[in-house]
Amino acid sequence: MPIDLRSDTVTTPTEKMRDAIRDAAVGDDVYGEDPTINHLEQLAAEIVGKEAALFVTSGTQGNQVAVLSHTQRGDEVILEEYSHIFGYETAGLSTIAGVQARTIKGVNGQMPIPDIVAAIREDDIHCPKTALICLENTHGDSGGRILPLNYMEEVYEISRQHQIPVHLDGARLFNAAVGLGVDPKEITKLVDTVQFCLSKGLSAPMGSILAGPKNFIEKARKWRKMLGGGMRQAGIAGAAGIVALEEMVGRLEEDHVHAKKLAQRLALIEGIDIDAEGVETNIIMFSIEGLGMDSEEFIEKLNEHQILANSAGPYRIRFVTHRGITKEDIGTAVEVVNRIAAGAKTRL
Ligand SMILES: *Cc1c(COP(=O)(O)O)cnc(C)c1O
Repeated sequence: MPIDLRSDTVTTPTEKMRDAIRDAAVGDDVYGEDPTINHLEQLAAEIVGKEAALFVTSGTQGNQVAVLSHTQRGDEVILEEYSHIFGYETAGLSTIAGVQARTIKGVNGQMPIPDIVAAIREDDIHCPKTALICLENTHGDSGGRILPLNYMEEVYEISRQHQIPVHLDGARLFNAAVGLGVDPKEITKLVDTVQFCLSKGLSAPMGSILAGPKNFIEKARKWRKMLGGGMRQAGIAGAAGIVALEEMVGRLEEDHVHAKKLAQRLALIEGIDIDAEGVETNIIMFSIEGLGMDSEEFIEKLNEHQILANSAGPYRIRFVTHRGITKEDIGTAVEVVNRIAAGAKTRL
């Protein structure tokens, strides 16, 4: 079995999840009659301190349904330049919701506060309406960075002043909560709506949750139907989500410890440029430019040693730790990178 550091999405359901799936009480969820989904949605809403929640097929669907429910065609949405909603959801913003993106370059996923303020539009006949601010926590493209609570508070305050809702793409919300050592509610109380994934580090086979006020979730339920997300005996999938929320959050700490250790040890290798201090959760990014090879070649060499990874740029590699990665795997990965680096040196 290769050591798969591509993503935490490769995690497979636990035995307990498989049992829960087999035993799940189900009904037609489009009629609101799936007891497992009703339980999951109630549990999820409680965990993030919102009135209601909706089980959606994926994080992407959750985010797009959120944008649709918050905005009107022709509105504008403020979001970070490297956010998932802007960059990795196949332009759903413009094609599905019909809104315009106003991107702001962030630092570690944080859009500078003055830039957010400057981007909010006045009521003007020429201009689109600023209808939504999106945040991402943890922020994937910056290497799983956590948005500090005081930063989120500032954004929230501005959003109240201008009466603009805030949506959190919290695909890895629980990594942020575990990383900060706080209850997830401490994060989600600073946003109006939140999407989080059950299918990443939490190991459920599929599905995400969108949570928010009751009237928002009612709207979202209708948009989800339009997008083809109205599922029938959805409890088959939702049962694993309940196990994910009840049992799989605490262990994320282990992934963070592994990522930190991996980063610290990679930092000692000549030619690898990594900010080990900046590794806060389960994602690490590093440059291999100093080895005189590009990402494609580096990943090929990793693959030869049974290690899988994704590129995050021409000279940037991403490793993600998760339930399938052991302490021994971390040691092996470091050894392999060491060997690749030594080989590159003799070539230089
Ligand atoms: C994975 C991810 C999503 C999308 O989730 P899918 O289930 O893959 O559609 C959205 N936002 C962020 C930050 C993600 O990491």
